[in-house]
Amino acid sequence: MIGNINSIDTMGLVDGPGIRVVVFLKGCTLRCKFCHNPEMWSNEIKEEWTPSELVNYILKFKTYFKENGGVTFSGGEPLNQSEFLLECLKLCKKNNIHTCLDTAGVGIEYDEILDYTDLVIFDIKALDKVKYKELTGKNIDISLKFLDTCQKKNKRMWIRQVIVPNYNDNEEYILEIKKFVKNLKNIEKIELLPYHTMGVAKYKELGIPYILEGLSDMDKDKCKLLQEILNKNWW
Ligand code: SF4
Repeated sequence: MIGNINSIDTMGLVDGPGIRVVVFLKGCTLRCKFCHNPEMWSNEIKEEWTPSELVNYILKFKTYFKENGGVTFSGGEPLNQSEFLLECLKLCKKNNIHTCLDTAGVGIEYDEILDYTDLVIFDIKALDKVKYKELTGKNIDISLKFLDTCQKKNKRMWIRQVIVPNYNDNEEYILEIKKFVKNLKNIEKIELLPYHTMGVAKYKELGIPYILEGLSDMDKDKCKLLQEILNKNWW
């Protein structure tokens, strides 16, 4: 079995706890308007790895993981390569590596994937059916079903939300997130990520129209303030 990998970051510090190897798998069926990795969308082959080749490579960095580091499978949408992902996760657990899945919850073919995942970083995109579809091109029910499976399996979770100017950068939306997350269990962290325009040049290179053309980066201070509102009376 072969996996299609876009790139590997061997010293990741933001996608999960501790120091992590972050594996970016190619392919994604969503089309988030704010996506800064459009080069990850297609399934066109970038680098081919077998699960054992990949895990043997990850093992070289195991000494850096210490008590809470490990590997994070990200993308693209890592669930897009469910079979390969499952094999890699099984091998990681066999080698006592902490595993994290950074996902929008779209494309899971085997729920068993979650049995070998220690932490799920779940990107919620939008909370309302219409807005989710408008933003991603997909039906929200797919990601909500995945979330439900995580909850049934008692998975530890982090929640992520990109904050986009004039779209969801308001207190009202933050309170909606708060209400949504209150009904969930095992949520250890909620992170608001400020929208940025660093990916815009890639769209030009790839000849893909950038729908949010002209929109400025999210003001980091405002995003921090919204994060404070979110954290208030929560943890
Ligand atoms: S899920 Fe991630 S990779 Fe896929 S379009 Fe959205 S932001 Fe981009």
